Amino acid sequence: MRLLCSNDDGILAKGLEVLERATLPLGEVWVVAPDREQSATSHSLTVHHPLRPVQLGERRWQVDGTPTDCVLLAVEALMPERPDFVLSGINHGPNMGEDVLYSGTVAAAMEGLAMGLPSIAVSFTGRVMRADNSPLEDLVEPLTHLLEHLVSLPAFPASTLFNVNFPSVPAKEIKGVKLTRLGRRVFSDSITKMQDPWGRPIYWIGGGSVTWSAGEGTDIAAVREGYISVTPLHLDVTHQARLDDAEQWWRAP
Ligand code: MN
Repeated sequence: MRLLCSNDDGILAKGLEVLERATLPLGEVWVVAPDREQSATSHSLTVHHPLRPVQLGERRWQVDGTPTDCVLLAVEALMPERPDFVLSGINHGPNMGEDVLYSGTVAAAMEGLAMGLPSIAVSFTGRVMRADNSPLEDLVEPLTHLLEHLVSLPAFPASTLFNVNFPSVPAKEIKGVKLTRLGRRVFSDSITKMQDPWGRPIYWIGGGSVTWSAGEGTDIAAVREGYISVTPLHLDVTHQARLDDAEQWWRAP
């Protein structure tokens, strides 16, 4: 089995190293990842300048682009054959609810899916401190276990990517795996007004507080309870219910 690993935290991220190690028992592992942090770049594609991949090992490349660029380049240019699976992560932080709209980690898996490849995005919902990598380090074994299970599903569902979130608990306290839907997340005070060195106003997006609305069956509820959350996602954002009840609201112009 041939597996492509990428991420959005950059080629040096601990989470990518852990994903790589967790994936090695499954087959031939390729790594094509951004040369720097690309979190929250969503599904952006670099079209206004060329990309210059640098080969770091036999099956290891860094790319001066986004996670989407990396997967596209890997599959179309760098790998001699298409991978059987695209894996992305482990993201340093959660990708639950609306996060999936901003996430470069999820976007890498979406790009795999857009190219017809079964894909899995993996995130760790706890905080990752630079000095202490142990929460990620401990995920090698449970992640191998989960990936072995997912890639050997007798029918890996077509047109589907799995968005996996690990709970912020020590690996040995993980209670199990739950299949979930996306919850909701609301940011408050996430824009900080500051001054540049010349006294002009600047705004920094980030920080603030996050409210998660964690109804039953959501990704957020599952990780809160100590479970690994697995949410099936697809690319089609058509509002099927509005098509189904169109009789009630739609009148052709
Ligand atoms: Mn990230």
